[in-house]
Amino acid sequence: MLEKRQFYIDGQWVDPAIPNDFHVIDPATEEACGVISLGEQADTDAAVSAARNSFQSWANTPLDQRVALIKKLGDIYSARRDEMAEAIRAEMGAPIDLARNSQWGAGGWHLSGFLQALEKFDFEQKMDADRIRTEPIGVCALITPWNWPMNQVVLKAIPALAVGCTMVLKPSEIAPLSSLLFAEMVHEAGFPAGVFNLVNGDGAGVGSQLSAHPDVDMVSFTGSTRAGIAITKAAADSLKRVSLELGGKGANVIFADADEKAVKRGVIHCMNNSGQSCNAPTRMIVERSAYPHALEVAKATALATEVGPTTESGRHIGPVVSETQFNKIQGLIETGIREGATVIAGGLGRPEGMNKGYFVRPTVFADVTPEMTIYREEIFGPVLSIIPFDTEEQAIAMANDTVYGLTNYIQTDDDEKRLRVARQVRSGMVETNGVGRVQGSPFGGYKQSGNGREGGKWGLEEFCEVKAISGVPIG
Ligand code: NAD
Repeated sequence: MLEKRQFYIDGQWVDPAIPNDFHVIDPATEEACGVISLGEQADTDAAVSAARNSFQSWANTPLDQRVALIKKLGDIYSARRDEMAEAIRAEMGAPIDLARNSQWGAGGWHLSGFLQALEKFDFEQKMDADRIRTEPIGVCALITPWNWPMNQVVLKAIPALAVGCTMVLKPSEIAPLSSLLFAEMVHEAGFPAGVFNLVNGDGAGVGSQLSAHPDVDMVSFTGSTRAGIAITKAAADSLKRVSLELGGKGANVIFADADEKAVKRGVIHCMNNSGQSCNAPTRMIVERSAYPHALEVAKATALATEVGPTTESGRHIGPVVSETQFNKIQGLIETGIREGATVIAGGLGRPEGMNKGYFVRPTVFADVTPEMTIYREEIFGPVLSIIPFDTEEQAIAMANDTVYGLTNYIQTDDDEKRLRVARQVRSGMVETNGVGRVQGSPFGGYKQSGNGREGGKWGLEEFCEVKAISGVPIG
C-alpha cells in the first residue's frame, strides 16, 4: 500500500501541519491502496504563499523557457505511462487497458493540443494605437474530480503553467494518487520552486479554504454542480474568477435515418468508464418508428457489456468509484423502477458472480418519461434511459429539457437536419454521427454544466487577464 502523506509545496515534499490520515480505496477490491493526509488551513496557506512568491518571476520567464519545461514534463509523462496507468486503475477503478489508453492518453492529448495552440497564441496584439496584452491571471487553485483524473489535471495545470500562472492543485481526495505522481513529474521536469504546488484535502477543508482564500486569483474547478455552487459562493467575497466544468445529462437524438451502428455506439459510449463521464449520452431520444428496434439493440449491447476486474486486460468496464456512488446508483435504479420505467437490461445489485467491489450491472431503462428522476438527474453510473419522440421540434425540446447543457449528440444521415438540430440544442458541445471533437476544440457547458471552456486556445485564455495599454508608441 502506497503511503504518501506529504504535500508538494515550494519545490519540495513537506509533512502536513497536522497528520490526518485518509485511506484511498481501490473500488474493485474495497481495500485501501494508499494513505494520504488531508491538509489543514496552514498547509493551504503555505502552498498559496509559495505560489504567490513565485508568481512574478514565473510570469516574466520567457515563453520559450516555459514551453521547454512543459515539453520535458510531456516526455516524462510518456516515459512513466505504466506507473500513471496503475495509479489511475487503483484509485478510481478503470480497467488497466482503459487506464493505459484513454485515461492516460487524454492527458498527453491535451498537453500536445496546448503546445499547438501556443504556437499561434498572441500574447500581445495591436488595436489601432493601443496594445492589447494577454497576461497571466495570477495564483490559481485547481480543484479536480476523480473520474478522468489526468484529463482534468492536464486541462488545468498545463495552460496555467504555459501562460505564466502559478498554482495549487487539490485533486479529489478519492483519487489523489495520479496527481501525486504528476507532482513528481513536475519536480523531475525542473519547474522553479513554488510554481506548482499540491495539497491534498477534501472539499470542506482545503477545497473551501482555496475557494475563499484572499490571495488566490482564480479557481478552476471540475466536479459536481453542487460543489460548483458552493465554490462560487465561497469565492464571492474576494470576487476571484471562478471557472466551472460541471455535470451533464447529455441527450443522444437518434433519427430513424441514422446509421445502423448509432444505437450500439450510443450504448457503448454511455457505459464507457462505467458511466462516469460528465459528457456521457445518458438520455437516448429515439424517433418513434425506430424505437422498438433501438430497444432490442440497446438491450443486446448492454447484455454484451462485460464487467470485470481492473487488473485484467480487455474492453470490459470496471466498478464505479466508491461505496457512496454505488449506493447512489442503486437508489436511482430503484427509483426508476418505482416511477414506472421498464428495465430491459441489468438492474439492481452486482453482476452475477460478483460479491465484492463496487460493480454495477450495465442497465437500460425503456418507457422513460421526462418527469422521471432517472431522466432528469445525473446518475454517473452505467445506466441509460431511452425515450421515443415524434417530431424534430419535440426532439429538440426534449434535449433542452434539462438544467444541464454539456454535450448533446445527434444521429441522422441528413446533413442539413444534423446542422439544424445542432444549432438549436443548448449545450457547449454537439457531437454528431459518432465523430469526436478535434484536438484543441473547446470543452465546456451551458447552463448548470458550467461556464468554462477548456483545451486549446480557449483553455489558455481562461487563465489570462486582458490589459489595454494606450499612449505608448508601437514601433
Ligand atoms: P465533487 O464535486 O464531489 O468533487 C470534485 C472536487 O471538488 C474534489 O476535489 C472535491 O474534494 C472538491 N470539492 C467538493 N466539495 C467542495 C467544496 N464545497 N468546495 C471546494 N471543493 C469541493 O465531484 P466528483 O464526485 O469528484 O466528480 C463527479 C462530478 O464531476 C460529476 O457531477 C461530473 O459530471 C462532474 N464532472 C464534470 C466534468 C466537466 O468537465 N464538465 C468533467 C468530469 C466530471
